[in-house]
Amino acid sequence: MSHVLTIENLSFKYHKKRVLTDISFSTDPGEFISIIGPNGSGKTTLIKLISKINKPEKGNIHIKGENIQTMSNKQLARHIAVVMQSVEPVAMSVEEYVLLGRLPFFKKYQFFETAKDMALAHKYMELTGILKLKDAPINEISGGERQLAAIARALTQQPLLLILDEPTSHLDITHQIKILELISSLKQELSLSILMVLHDLNLAAEYSDRLVLLGGENGKIYQTGTCEQVLSEKSIQEVYNTKVKIQKNPVSKRPCIFLVTQNALNPE
Ligand code: ADP
Repeated sequence: MSHVLTIENLSFKYHKKRVLTDISFSTDPGEFISIIGPNGSGKTTLIKLISKINKPEKGNIHIKGENIQTMSNKQLARHIAVVMQSVEPVAMSVEEYVLLGRLPFFKKYQFFETAKDMALAHKYMELTGILKLKDAPINEISGGERQLAAIARALTQQPLLLILDEPTSHLDITHQIKILELISSLKQELSLSILMVLHDLNLAAEYSDRLVLLGGENGKIYQTGTCEQVLSEKSIQEVYNTKVKIQKNPVSKRPCIFLVTQNALNPE
């Protein structure tokens, strides 16, 4: 099986500040990978490199075997779609916003969407549960609904790889689970490769097939592997400098992280 995304020996500096060093990993179709790591460990920078917002200092990024540096932004947008942390409350309807996902497919001198574009936008608004909001202004729906609209827009790009940077960070637990359940179902239904930055380690453990833990020495990957391999008390202590206990979630059997507070360690 050929990889969707292949990252080889990627390094990056902001001016003189080294942020990422020698990053290598790949994703397969239908695979859900979460990038985890402490604040400042380079998660968003990695996404910016894959989206061609920044250029690597060293190393290569390939999508389906093609180096992204040789692709135009429009070509890249036909393969990868990115959902950022929050959606700007722009003055347009949900439907207009979702249709923006079809822009990479517009032909020269095409100004209006085709019937196919409209059908795709409707299909993915339906799949994400926001079709009923299609005429609502984006700036008048809730944060969770806006995030669903951003996912619908990304899906109308029909990407091979869906990248999400903390898509649940501003949402309550109901909406966090709703979005992660949706994304999990998409990876199977659409055979999408998912790359997600997640702060919440327990959510990452529940939904991811594999984890990439940033925060190694000098911006290296500390560890990649299954959730069981990567989430250990030792790795969390070393990378996050925080004491935790890890046990199996009694329902999913995935690793579940418990904070160890000073109060609990030293009860009065
Ligand atoms: P994370 O997403 O893991 O919190 P980031 O990728 O945002 O980490 O940041 C990694 C490091 O790069 C941080 O130390 C941050 O201060 C620095 N950084 C991020 N963006 C810039 C920038 N535009 N210019 C200079 N330094 C930056």
